[in-house]
Amino acid sequence: EGFDLKSFLSEIVEDLHPMKKEGQVINHLHHGRREVLLDKKILRNVMLNLLSNAIKYSEKDIDLTSEVKDDHVVIIVKDQGIGIPDEQQKNLFGKFFRARNVNGIQGTGLGLNIVKHYVELMKGDIDFISRENIGTAFTISLPG
Ligand code: ATP
Ligand code: MG
Repeated sequence: EGFDLKSFLSEIVEDLHPMKKEGQVINHLHHGRREVLLDKKILRNVMLNLLSNAIKYSEKDIDLTSEVKDDHVVIIVKDQGIGIPDEQQKNLFGKFFRARNVNGIQGTGLGLNIVKHYVELMKGDIDFISRENIGTAFTISLPG
């Protein structure tokens, strides 16, 4: 069933408002047509995980970008937070993975394992780029 991706993502951003740090802003930019055909429940879970990580592991503003192209959708969540240490990046999607720099930030290390699984279920791809103490950006690309 088709829905408006831009409003869908804005609602998720609203829902996460209580979790944000003081002064933290999530900037959302959308490009392209708004109507998409994706599994809403799965996409919501993926976005809640990626955005709540960005909020948790960063104090600064977050950039959310969505773009609908001819046959696929690209969503990027970019933070300016603690980043993931280089030598641990290969373990990021593993079960119960927690990086050595979390310093008391709570978590179970399951969110991204589920995200990876869900993105595969949607026949999409997930990728990331991260630098310790600089930030992290996750990109998901989904057919539809
Ligand atoms: P939860 O299961 O509640 O999501 P979690 O956030 O610890 O717990 P994941 O979301 O799977 O688990 O993330 C795994 C680990 O990857 C985190 O513990 C953290 O070390 C690192 N990580 C994930 N996202 C980020 C991010 N945006 N910035 C820095 N580190 C991150
Ligand atoms: Mg998490």
